[in-house]
Amino acid sequence: MDLQLSGKVAIITGASRGIGRAIAETLSAEGMKLVLAARSREPMEDLAKSLPTECLVQAVDLRDPAVPAAVVAVAKQKFGGVDLVVNNAGATKRGDFLALTDDDWADGYAMKLFGAMRLSRAAWPDLAARKGGIISIIGVGGRTGAAEFAIGGSVNAALMNLTKVLADRGITDGVRVNAINPGAIATERLQVRIRNFAKEQGIDEAESARRLPRAMNIARFGEPREIAEAVAFLASPRSAYIQGAIIDVDGGVTRTL
Ligand code: NAD
Repeated sequence: MDLQLSGKVAIITGASRGIGRAIAETLSAEGMKLVLAARSREPMEDLAKSLPTECLVQAVDLRDPAVPAAVVAVAKQKFGGVDLVVNNAGATKRGDFLALTDDDWADGYAMKLFGAMRLSRAAWPDLAARKGGIISIIGVGGRTGAAEFAIGGSVNAALMNLTKVLADRGITDGVRVNAINPGAIATERLQVRIRNFAKEQGIDEAESARRLPRAMNIARFGEPREIAEAVAFLASPRSAYIQGAIIDVDGGVTRTL
């Protein structure tokens, strides 16, 4: 199936590893030119060299309020405009609610919610002019609360609402805005959960990785590429009537409506 993405321009945040890296690989394979934005320059430069389309690397901290607009400005300078923003970067601290500090909360919001909001706002005029789109990679914790995921859960819920807000405005402005909620995807982030579960259960990490899916009531962990394939479809005009959707790509872990 031709996704009709060839020659278009995407900004992908958190592209240095994990899900963001897989999204970069998939969209580049579809012919998109990319702006890769994350903290670590080296892995992104290695990635850029390995991809078939032109890429611009931006080693930035998205918590800095000035950064999102600057990323959009260099994208426009280099490629002439932006067709797609993928808000993927995220790092929220897990832990006991009573132990999480104000700084932990501020940090989680600064990165994942405000970073995505500012980037979406900065790119919006261009996205409207080119009839482009925004896809946010959020997370199942936004729909289903869990004791050790207070910050991530509330940030994700806020980002889901922002998705609906922007999708509503996007109807008028011609911008498609959608989101994906990944479940447990096999990236470095998941390793922390595997390690914690190993400690809790008094087992080694390999055994923990085997048992954790069963404890979560899923058949297996997902692969980053399985999120990236959904992003490519949502980015494509093939999904033109999908607007404001928040799609769980989670192996069935979300059992609520
Ligand atoms: P990861 O930790 O492997 O990678 C995170 C990426 O975000 C990295 O490229 C990192 O450089 C970037 N990043 C973090 N803080 C940044 C900052 N301040 N400025 C710029 N870039 C920053 O994460 P992942 O597992 O690939 O997850 C990607 C997204 O998917 C995240 O938003 C995460 O919350 C969400 N998610 C992941 C899972 C999972 O199981 N892996 C589940 C649900 C949701």
